[in-house]
Amino acid sequence: MTDERELQLAENLGAVRDRLSAACRAAGRKPDEVNLIVVTKTYPAADVLRLVALGVTDVGENRDQEAAEKAAEVVELGGRVRWHFVGQLQRNKCRSVVRYADMVHSVDSVRLATALAVAAKSRDLPLDTLVQVSLDGDASRGGAVEDQAEPDIALDRVLECVAAADGLALRGLMAVAPLGWQPDRAFARLAAIAASVRAKYPQAVLLSAGMSGDVEQAIQHGATHVRLGSAVLGNRASLM
Ligand SMILES: *Cc1c(COP(=O)(O)O)cnc(C)c1O
Repeated sequence: MTDERELQLAENLGAVRDRLSAACRAAGRKPDEVNLIVVTKTYPAADVLRLVALGVTDVGENRDQEAAEKAAEVVELGGRVRWHFVGQLQRNKCRSVVRYADMVHSVDSVRLATALAVAAKSRDLPLDTLVQVSLDGDASRGGAVEDQAEPDIALDRVLECVAAADGLALRGLMAVAPLGWQPDRAFARLAAIAASVRAKYPQAVLLSAGMSGDVEQAIQHGATHVRLGSAVLGNRASLM
């Protein structure tokens, strides 16, 4: 069965897939090196099911309460999809997130990593985890910081904590281009940080970067997971 919304999503998704393959070509990369995560925040479970029908395998959410309800609804309606938690995460939400998330992109402090590791012990398999990096050092917008005196948010400490945790599997880094930065500058900096992190943690090969407005630059600089919301689903209500 198709409906208007499904046709619209199909069209948007087609345009996004074209953009991703053009960006991969321009960067000299293979299309299968880049995984599309459709960020479905503010949109209903019905849209997730339409996306699954269109071949989407990975969706992202940024608030636990919304994500937990949506994930349960999608399962109930028979949809199978991988859930990525990409937003700022409070420690008291970890027990909930580990129940439905396949990957958490936004671990940015030792305290959060510790809470997530404890919660993840309830899982059969370790939780795939990315450490979010602040590219401009402004930790108030999320992200661990390089060369940081405050140990809780020092990038090397957060990486150490995730790598050592039984319940977590360190898989790589995530970042958002800072406000007012050229995406090219932001993702070049991320690529440099990722290279130095991989020298110490060879398993940290994933790079989550690139949104609807800057995915081309992120792919140019090595993104393996791109997180697109509005380009697929439309513009969100302004309260987000
Ligand atoms: C909302 C969100 C996205 C998607 O943003 P768009 O500009 O709609 O593509 C990506 N990453 C994170 C962390 C988000 O919160």
